[in-house]
Amino acid sequence: MKFNYYMPTKIVCGRDCVLTEGAQMKPLGAHALIVTGKSSAKNGALDDVLTALENNGQRATVFDRVSPNPTIACVREGVALLVSAGADFIVAVGGGSPMDAAKAIATLAVQERTDEEIFAGGYEPTALPMAHVPTTAGTGSEVTPYAILTNDFKETKTSITSPAMFPRIAFLDGKYMRSLPTVSAVNTAIDAFSHAVEGMLSRNATPMSDLLAKESLRILYPLLLKTAGQTTDEERDALLYASTLAGMTIAQSGTTAVHGMGYCLTYFHNVDHGRANGLLLGETLRLCREKGVPALDEILSACGDTLEGVCDTLDELLGTRENLPEEELSEFARRSAQNKNIKKSAYEPTEAELKRIFMASCHTLR
Ligand code: NAP
Ligand code: ZN
Repeated sequence: MKFNYYMPTKIVCGRDCVLTEGAQMKPLGAHALIVTGKSSAKNGALDDVLTALENNGQRATVFDRVSPNPTIACVREGVALLVSAGADFIVAVGGGSPMDAAKAIATLAVQERTDEEIFAGGYEPTALPMAHVPTTAGTGSEVTPYAILTNDFKETKTSITSPAMFPRIAFLDGKYMRSLPTVSAVNTAIDAFSHAVEGMLSRNATPMSDLLAKESLRILYPLLLKTAGQTTDEERDALLYASTLAGMTIAQSGTTAVHGMGYCLTYFHNVDHGRANGLLLGETLRLCREKGVPALDEILSACGDTLEGVCDTLDELLGTRENLPEEELSEFARRSAQNKNIKKSAYEPTEAELKRIFMASCHTLR
């Protein structure tokens, strides 16, 4: 057995933990840039963070202009505000979009890059310190070293990464998800599910990442269908915990073919990130069955369901599927075949197989 395991984020979990454990942010700096979207003002997370920082005697400047699928321009705006305010650390509050924007701001604040160089990789392991407060149970960004940004140069979404992009602290409190619209609860839960599954289907899976993924699936899978209705506080706490476990999984393994393909649907059709993955996941699993990928049986065993049972669950959550023309799906298959995530898949689909997945997932003649 041979592997590395590195996950330096301190996880603080529990009801009201931002208020009761907020002193843990004291060592991060004197002045926080809070990076968030508009919903945090309504779900209570922003108020809790402002109170905690005030109790610590720390100053705060709020940057609440992050929209879904953050762009380089949004990150530049955040860096400019950070510099003009004199902030020296970051608190991210929100879903994956504000959390990813925060990581990019924390990095670009200390490492100069032109727009053209942002996706070139090779980042030094330095960034401003961050605390993250997730308000969706999906991305696990609070425990990963990745920031996924819209990449207009290549017409896709691309991750940037460095070990310094791991937040110092993640505060997990499911109470902020009480206000989450049902459609977001469903899409984000599917995203977390896809992370745990793809983590196990990765060439880079390790015994540790599989352990985390299986526990995530054990908790998450029975709750998936519940996200389409009213969930309880207890269920939301469990969803958040499971999504963090799935984030810890992909922090080791990365994501694979499903995410690599899903970026096309998001970039060109604005399909929500989690939904894009859900649309493609069932057919990808069927291909894994055909190719005899060994991890598939372990995934199904952790879910406690059959392959067709998992596909039915996804179908029920997704409802009417997007119907895209064949020529466009051929182009998406061609683009996806170049994506670095595809090459991380335990079974690396050919371009023809990628097209088959797209056709069966997003074309009504399926
Ligand atoms: P999101 O884009 O952060 O948020 C989606 C919507 O939900 C936004 O309109 C947001 O509003 C709203 N929202 C968030 N929390 C809410 C709450 N508690 N109550 C009511 N509304 C709320 O969605 P996401 O699915 O969490 O993140 C997706 C992004 O994460 C994508 O860009 C994806 O590529 C990335 N991602 C990153 C990783 C990683 O490891 N870094 C992994 C997977 C995905 P406001 O924004 O206006 O507040
Ligand atoms: Zn994802």
